[in-house]
Order: sequence, then C-alpha cells, then structure tokens
Amino acid sequence: MADVHTRAQRSYNMSRIRSKDTRPEMIVRSLVHQMGFRFRLHRKDLPGKPDLVLPRHQKVIFVHGCFWHMHRCRYGRVTPKTNAQFWQDKREGNVARDRRHRRQLRADGWDVLTIWECWTKDPEALVIPRLEAFLGC
Ligand SMILES: [Zn+2]
Repeated sequence: MADVHTRAQRSYNMSRIRSKDTRPEMIVRSLVHQMGFRFRLHRKDLPGKPDLVLPRHQKVIFVHGCFWHMHRCRYGRVTPKTNAQFWQDKREGNVARDRRHRRQLRADGWDVLTIWECWTKDPEALVIPRLEAFLGC
C-alpha cells in the first residue's frame, strides 16, 4: 500500500515523537498539579531548561529518561550494540551537562529534584513520596 498518511498527519506524528510532552513528564506534572502546586514548563532562562519550575517555591524538577541520562538502573545501563562509543560519549556528555546545570541552579538558590523515568512506572511507591518530601507537603 502506498503512503497512507497525509502530510499533515505525518508531521503531527513526527512532532509527537520529538515532543517534550513525554509520558513520564506528564505523570509528574499531573501529580504535582494534584498536590496543589502551580508550575511553569521548560523555562528557557534557567540552566538545563527544567521540565517543571515552581517559581514561588524556588524549586525545579527534571524528569530524566534513564537511557539518555544514564540512570543506575537496568534501562540506564543498556549499551547499544552498534555505534557503542558514539552513544557512550553522547550520554556521558548529557550526564556532565546535567551535573553542571544542577550546580548552577543550586548556586542561584534553586532546589533541584530529578525524577527518573523508571520511577514513573510505579508512581505510588517511587514518585509521590519523593515529590512530597521535596515540596514539603
Ligand atoms: Zn531508571
């Protein structure tokens, strides 16, 4: 069969793939919202463009993919079979950048929390307690 997607549909699909509105991030947003906090998204003027920013509380939250940011979990330890060195360098670059951004944010008076993608598979046990501790509720 020929290409069944219209151009509009295809570009919509691509935009979804590239989108920052990943599922783990949506889960975290909805939890923080349910806890009664207002936040801004991806503030470009802050180091690392944090996924959630709570300006009144001087707190930011990053939602990190385990693979890309090398979480110490089974997803983060995956080594691609092809172009292994390329991916390793890229991911290590991400980790170094993350560390730099966290340091800059803390130096500017922000509290920083990182939520890992794998935690969002079990929000009750792994995300909610951390958010509550971080947000002080
Ligand atoms: Zn993980």
